[in-house]
Amino acid sequence: MILLGSTGSIGVNALKIAEQFHLSVDTLVAGRNIPLLNEQIKRHRPKYVVIMRDEDRMLVDHPDVRTGETAILEVIEESNSNHVINALVGFVGFRPTLKALECGKKVALANKESLVVGGSFVDTRGIVPIDSEHFGLWYLHQGGRSIERMVITASGGAFRDWPLEKLANATLEDALKHPNWSMGQKITIDSASMVNKLFELLEARWLFGEGQYDALIETKSLIHALIDYTDGSTTAHFAHADMRLPIAYALMGNVDTPIVERMDLSRIGSLEFRPIETERYPIWTIKEDLLAHPQRGVIVNAANEAAIERFVAGNSRFVDIASMILNAYDKFTDEPTSIEEIFEIDAEVRRYVRGIAC
Ligand code: NDP
Repeated sequence: MILLGSTGSIGVNALKIAEQFHLSVDTLVAGRNIPLLNEQIKRHRPKYVVIMRDEDRMLVDHPDVRTGETAILEVIEESNSNHVINALVGFVGFRPTLKALECGKKVALANKESLVVGGSFVDTRGIVPIDSEHFGLWYLHQGGRSIERMVITASGGAFRDWPLEKLANATLEDALKHPNWSMGQKITIDSASMVNKLFELLEARWLFGEGQYDALIETKSLIHALIDYTDGSTTAHFAHADMRLPIAYALMGNVDTPIVERMDLSRIGSLEFRPIETERYPIWTIKEDLLAHPQRGVIVNAANEAAIERFVAGNSRFVDIASMILNAYDKFTDEPTSIEEIFEIDAEVRRYVRGIAC
């Protein structure tokens, strides 16, 4: 496999699955975590290695190290492997998804931003999602019954139990305290703002087609997806939250061996569901409009990445993330009609958000 983002939270879990099932790793792509990358090289002996920055090249224990985004596209093209796991974070993952599909490779896609920004230009027949919620929906889809609505669950993120009036003072450290598990920095912030769930609804829309989609909070993160059928019944996908499960299915299609520990409902005792309220998660006000105009995902993604950059750099507050996205969503109304336009809109929205006075 070609593994993009090997040193991240998903990348590390993908390598655990590779070891468990003896899958060979042809290419490792990482950013700045060179010590971890060197350990991975020693263990998996990849043919190709790509890192982000030229100045780190000498630190990598491999004879053929390439650098930069163009090198990622080159190795996808050159590698004989037909499987790409895209676990890069953010817009930087979009071109590699397109390139992998163009080369006829199968993409196990964790990089949800690829579908958020350009779902209408991506041939989803070549994609298997690596996300608990979409895996859950896929799992429940077997059977061909008439579906009324697909629902995914949210943990509610770091601030789900905070008094609303305290949110204005939330720090980066606070935003990174996810209630249920540990993930990369950006997705943990996206989880606190509920942008992550908005993105997952868009992702579901592209993967499963037009239909009714919604989300709700399930505080223990044990249910990942639910399907309401036309006959009035609902099914739910339960599993301990562990990314190895969707990764294993994405890589192997079917799995007959234990991946995660089975859940004991009698020990769990109770579950709690909550609606996603716009007072706590203002981004939820655009949910219906965005699902009706999914091509506008590029605007939300660019505004979100620029707003997070500002928050992480200490130039704005957590609550400003949603305000800046909503501001940009009002200001930019064009929908991209080509892949080139996605890049243009992305750059324009980022410039705009970087200049908003907070
Ligand atoms: P992380 O931040 O943990 O990892 C991102 C990876 O991408 C790291 O290996 C990082 O390298 C690498 N990277 C970032 N920028 C570049 C670049 N310019 N060139 C090369 N490599 C780069 O993120 P996650 O693993 O949490 O998330 C990855 C994707 O998966 C995201 O889109 C997220 O939304 C999605 N996802 C994540 C889940 C999770 O449980 N974490 C669940 C479902 C989806 P380095 O660290 O070396 O700098």
